[in-house]
Amino acid sequence: MRKRIIAGNWKMYKTIGEAKSFVTEVKDRLPETDNVDAVICPPSLYLSELVKLTEGTPLEIGAQTMHDVDEGAFTGEVSPKMLADLNVPYVILGHSERRQYFNETDEAVNRKTLAAFSKGLTPIVCVGESLEEREAGKTVETVAGQVIKAFEGVNAEQAKEAIIAYEPIWAIGTGKTATAQDANEVCGEIRAEIGKLYDDETASAIRIQYGGSVKPGNIGELLSMEHIDGALVGGASLEPESFLEMIGVA
Ligand code: PGA
Repeated sequence: MRKRIIAGNWKMYKTIGEAKSFVTEVKDRLPETDNVDAVICPPSLYLSELVKLTEGTPLEIGAQTMHDVDEGAFTGEVSPKMLADLNVPYVILGHSERRQYFNETDEAVNRKTLAAFSKGLTPIVCVGESLEEREAGKTVETVAGQVIKAFEGVNAEQAKEAIIAYEPIWAIGTGKTATAQDANEVCGEIRAEIGKLYDDETASAIRIQYGGSVKPGNIGELLSMEHIDGALVGGASLEPESFLEMIGVA
């Protein structure tokens, strides 16, 4: 059985005061369970403080992005080595907003994925099609292509530990969710692609999240699907009550 994972992607929201009060409240109210990983990905400025605040609690912290080399003249960037040094366990890679606004390519996502593994970080690799790609019937082709590229050079042992987030771009922040059946179908195709790249064991071990307008009211149906092991949640992860409710459902 795959352990579920609910990750909140806070994007560029919250002050440090708001972030700390969220984490302080949520860490003490999380249910005692081995069935679900609960992760918050705050702006990178807050990682150090929130990692300390959650030490020894079930709430884990992840980064929203990182560079692919350990150090260098890259103004404004945060490196894999820095995240590992802070004991940040997870990093979101290739989010569609990074791909769209910061020109992150499949090649860059691949380099970052390899860098994450080399530092013992667990990557949450985001893939997903645009509305035009979906309407042109190119969903599976697009998403499978992103998976193939992201996992180039990743070995089976690493792939088993990886997390893939399937996030149709048209469903992010729009209130439009893919139907649970549609989401499950694409997550199943992603799992099949991992099976082709590696083997059945790896395909059944890898965890696949759905993301895009997930909220307390729809997470139950999404998680009831065979291939959906969790959710990457933006807007609905910003309030303690709705985050806790989603963990409760998971
Ligand atoms: P949303 O964002 O839940 O607000 O749609 C999801 C994401 O971008 O990861």
